[in-house]
Amino acid sequence: MVSCGSESSVGMISMEEAVETILRVAQRLEPMMVSLDESFDKILAEDIRAPDSLPPYPASTKDGFAVVASDGPGEYPVITESRAGNDGVGVTVTPGTVAYVTTGGPIPDGADAVVQVEDSEEIKEASGESRRVRILKQARQGFDIRPVGCDIEKDAIVLRSGERVSTSEIGLLATMGVMMVKVFPSPTIAVISTGDELVEPTTGNLSRGQIRDSNRAMLLAAAAQQHCKVLDLGIVRDDEEQLERVVDSAISSGIDILLTSGGVSMGDRDYVKPLLQKRGIVYFSKVLMRPGKPTTFAEIVVTSVDGKPTKKILAFGLPGNPVSCLVCFHLFTVPAIRHLSGWANPHLLRLNARLAQPIKTDPFRPEYHRATIRWEINDGSGNSGFVAESTGNQMSSRLLNMKLANALLELPPKDGVLAAGKSVSAIVISDLSGLPVNQNSVKCTPANNRGSAHTQAPAESQDSAVRVAILTVSDTVASGSGPDRSGPRAVSVVNSLSEKLGGARVVATAVVPDEVEKIKDVLQRWSDIDKVDLILTLGGTGFTPRDVTPEATKGLIEKETPGLLYVMLQESLKVTPFAILSRAAAGIRGSTLIINMPGNPNAVAECMAALMPALKHAMKQLRGDKREKNPRHVPHAEAETTDTWEQSYKLASAPEPSCPCSH
Ligand code: AMP
Ligand code: MG
Repeated sequence: MVSCGSESSVGMISMEEAVETILRVAQRLEPMMVSLDESFDKILAEDIRAPDSLPPYPASTKDGFAVVASDGPGEYPVITESRAGNDGVGVTVTPGTVAYVTTGGPIPDGADAVVQVEDSEEIKEASGESRRVRILKQARQGFDIRPVGCDIEKDAIVLRSGERVSTSEIGLLATMGVMMVKVFPSPTIAVISTGDELVEPTTGNLSRGQIRDSNRAMLLAAAAQQHCKVLDLGIVRDDEEQLERVVDSAISSGIDILLTSGGVSMGDRDYVKPLLQKRGIVYFSKVLMRPGKPTTFAEIVVTSVDGKPTKKILAFGLPGNPVSCLVCFHLFTVPAIRHLSGWANPHLLRLNARLAQPIKTDPFRPEYHRATIRWEINDGSGNSGFVAESTGNQMSSRLLNMKLANALLELPPKDGVLAAGKSVSAIVISDLSGLPVNQNSVKCTPANNRGSAHTQAPAESQDSAVRVAILTVSDTVASGSGPDRSGPRAVSVVNSLSEKLGGARVVATAVVPDEVEKIKDVLQRWSDIDKVDLILTLGGTGFTPRDVTPEATKGLIEKETPGLLYVMLQESLKVTPFAILSRAAAGIRGSTLIINMPGNPNAVAECMAALMPALKHAMKQLRGDKREKNPRHVPHAEAETTDTWEQSYKLASAPEPSCPCSH
């Protein structure tokens, strides 16, 4: 028991202690014999030995000719045919003869190798004459023959007690002819919703104070997903007697687990806890966690008329708020189900993921923050790994934050904010085979295609191309009321410049409305997590009240780069006098250069043209290339009159001076 710390932790146990308690109390269900198809996804309660060998006879792995290897190439009569399922019975292949065989067909006695059809030629004979073949290659003894038992040896233990029967195990059982297997059964779970405010989901018009019962349908589905048998016991009012009646009928119906939701808080009609206390042993009734604090766990022992214990039921009083209810089902009930079902390790999978955005933490209770984790291939620092994206507002009534959540981030209690990029523990709550994989950053990177997804090499050695991200900032585009013309234009400008920048590619694009926080979110992710080299924002730099891109940018940059803005302004002024109204910002955050560009599609090309002479050089410096000194010899007059890509590039790629300098 945690009895000190913040006032809110008095009388609470930690989530880990709670799970350990459940697993200590829970007992495996009695194994039972089931048919092959019923055994799918269950845990084996016995070892399975192979009753015979596979293959039971030496079999050909090719369509071809069974030969005596020492005969070698030459012309031979085909004395028999041994097709799969049709033995060339009784015929022996003697030296100087061959037999036709198909894949899986038994090798006739006397033959000791197979020559595939591709290494032979059929000899055309006059009708009535026996079949002859020309063998073109020398075969080695045993070649293309599966000897007896090469797949499965007779009497070998093929499947072990404790292993899960998945699809390949079903195949193995079938091939061994095992039609009945001993497995741990899945538990039967009864689900009850409690609350005076609850009505059936079928209710059309809700009266004031009523809500539709979402927890019951959700828990029934969640239990079924864990392969449990389910029993729907409906909605029970906040009425002590009714609750007692329904819970008692559940207890006597042969269930293994009882799930109630609601009625475990501090309300004057929260009757679940007192009832569980009356019927069994309550092991905990408060957990130091958020959400899910009032979660209650009890064991109810069912006895026969003569007082002998006949069954133990695990009872979970889950909180009523739908998010808390489902989070606690995952954290507490799933390990219990697994334990009862015979899993060797009933714990949920934990992995480390880096936060995609900063997250404020609870000062007192560990939080189980709903998030979507994805596998990010090459996150820009040369690493691949899991990245966790919060599902947003974490209110425990807001079931929308469970949508898309495939993990619960375990955030330690702390009065503060966890920074974007921080690695946290993530508890996986869904099947990982559907895990999102972000391949944006490797779309056109041969270096990464070659490397393994786990490669941990510095970015420079992985990929020397300048990685560019383009953010269109526009209410119109973000709301779908207008097309994004600047974004695609900027992508093609970057692509056309790729070679001149020493390799550049657009690794990400996004559109956000003119809102400081949304702009900052993306900029921060791209610079801190994805670690792109260059971010170009498009739009939102003018005088209208909604133009806030510079404010968002200034809130993030660590070093300003006014020279870039000066040059872009000069260039834009050649096109329009209104260029002086630009409030664009530019600067460096970490190793990322962020530049605000105008929203006008043509202006991006103009501004990039102006920046080109210095951009490649700037990128190298940002990547920490200490040899990359500022070239001082480029005459300003020349640079200022440069107005084509080619001329700009010539200046930028002029031989680097050796003098150390920084302007
Ligand atoms: P309780 O745990 O009973 O105090 O309920 C906490 C909150 O969860 C209240 O706002 C309830 O209306 C809500 N709630 C309880 N049970 C359900 C349910 N089955 N479906 C949807 N919301 C529920
Ligand atoms: Mg209630």
